[in-house]
Amino acid sequence: MKQNNIILNGIAASSGVAIGKVFVLEEDDFLVIKKEISGSHIKQELARLKDAIEKTKVELEEDQKELNKVLGENYAKIADAHLLILNDPMIKNEIEKMINKGTNAEYAVHKVVENFSKTFDLIDNEYFRERKHDLLDVAKKIMRNLLGKTKKSLADLDEDSIIVAKNLTPADTVNMKEVMVKGFVTEIGGKTSHTALVAQSLEIPAVVGLKDITYKVKQEMPIIVDGNLGLVILDPSKETIENYKREYEIQISNKKELEKFKDLPAVTTDGREVILGANIENPEEVRAALRHGANAIGLYRSEFMYMSKKTMPTEEEHYQNYSKVAKMMMPYEVIIRTMDLGGDKISRLGLMNIGREANPFMGLRAIRFCLKYPDIFKAQLKGILRASVHGNIKIMYPMISRISEIKEANKILEQAKEELKKEGKKFRDDIEVGVMIEVPSAAVISDIIAKEVDFLSIGTNDLIQYTMAVDRVNADVAHLYTPMHPAILRLLKNIIDSAHAAGKNVGMCGEMAGDPLYTAILLGLGLDEFSMSAGQIPKVKKIIRSISKAESKKLVEQLFKCTNMQEINITMKKFKYR
Ligand code: PEP
Ligand code: MG
Repeated sequence: MKQNNIILNGIAASSGVAIGKVFVLEEDDFLVIKKEISGSHIKQELARLKDAIEKTKVELEEDQKELNKVLGENYAKIADAHLLILNDPMIKNEIEKMINKGTNAEYAVHKVVENFSKTFDLIDNEYFRERKHDLLDVAKKIMRNLLGKTKKSLADLDEDSIIVAKNLTPADTVNMKEVMVKGFVTEIGGKTSHTALVAQSLEIPAVVGLKDITYKVKQEMPIIVDGNLGLVILDPSKETIENYKREYEIQISNKKELEKFKDLPAVTTDGREVILGANIENPEEVRAALRHGANAIGLYRSEFMYMSKKTMPTEEEHYQNYSKVAKMMMPYEVIIRTMDLGGDKISRLGLMNIGREANPFMGLRAIRFCLKYPDIFKAQLKGILRASVHGNIKIMYPMISRISEIKEANKILEQAKEELKKEGKKFRDDIEVGVMIEVPSAAVISDIIAKEVDFLSIGTNDLIQYTMAVDRVNADVAHLYTPMHPAILRLLKNIIDSAHAAGKNVGMCGEMAGDPLYTAILLGLGLDEFSMSAGQIPKVKKIIRSISKAESKKLVEQLFKCTNMQEINITMKKFKYR
């Protein structure tokens, strides 16, 4: 059989190579075909529509009950709105009218909803305009019931599978940790998109930003993912497969070589020691963190507790979860970031408008959400406080953009402590509280912030996105996402110097901290703690142990003389190959 050996270029999101078979993860969009019908078929189509609407109604009522039970009346309003749309006689009449004129039910639903959604676009009021998404959600459910479709399950994956998808959302990947997958390929995304982070934590290669890839592949087609060069080869020739098998062998032996560094300290040749921590999303990842030699959990992305289930995590669940991590990591620190839902991190809990905003990355995200819904926030804080007696736990607030947010969050933390005292539950009163610096306004006032908190941690994934106005998950602008941009280097220097002037430690938990390309710069800037995907720790440690603090400082001095990216790249190349 002839092989095509089609090479496609994307963005390298997680290193390594893999040879396997395509597993296309389908989205919810359905292929709707128009069919003409007549006679008794019209009656049948009307009956099918009625049946699909009935089934949808039952599903929505179940959703409503679930939301009411878990989150209370206010939150169940989303399901109320969906039921109102479903019961709207105008939409139903229009669909029936089309069927009566001789169109199949699927096409009639599709066409009528399309027309209605266009009228939503014309509405001035943003709130009402956004209700279009409710209409589309309901239509999707009706369509699924009409077609008798159930979503393709990840349980169908086998150990040779390479997932190919338009996008992998946290909801898609949350249970993937238990499934064997060899690699990821997606149409959208950048180096710090969720797909990239998950692939790194699973230590599998990923290539993102491959437009239309889902149309170019077939299920089970042979595929190679090269996460080092950022390319994908479809239907590879025998020769290509042989080459990649060799590359895979090298990859395995390099990994073994790096294992030697596991128990050695992260210290420069002239004696400066830094902490290397791991970023995790759930307690299961602690083992991998320790295996790779992590001396801290520098970022526990706690929002994944809100994404993995259909119910809101309780104080007790928070407590159990964080206690487990704290105990396993003793005596090392565990920095628990309070939930950062919003942006690309969407919960299944249907929390208010999260995921439906026009600008979700700038919307009701992270600390903003927590301060608006203090009861949800307080349950998490109480869980963290209780777990603090089992280890070395610290609290970190995400997306801080102003001092008042820190003060407000601390007020809720104090209330949580008071409640625990009354309930007779133990906690550490002296728990350290830090913030993420990931919004430019916070970076600029980091001198003021540093006086308010116990430590700072730089979230470069967002800081770069917001500073440079470059969406971190948009492949079309990925070339503008440049961590070494003079503006970013200046901001980093300001944050690190401000923290040190206030006598506080400063870490970094964005992807920049785990990329060996930037290790010397961050050392030279004086960063105290680097936190990254566990698999990156040995690579970063190897570099730290091979250079001196003095030469990294000199490199930073040279970089600060550069006025553009070209000069910066030349300076870096000279440093690297010296
Ligand atoms: C960051 O923004 O750098 C960060 C670590 O947080 P997240 O990637 O979870 O937004
Ligand atoms: Mg962030």
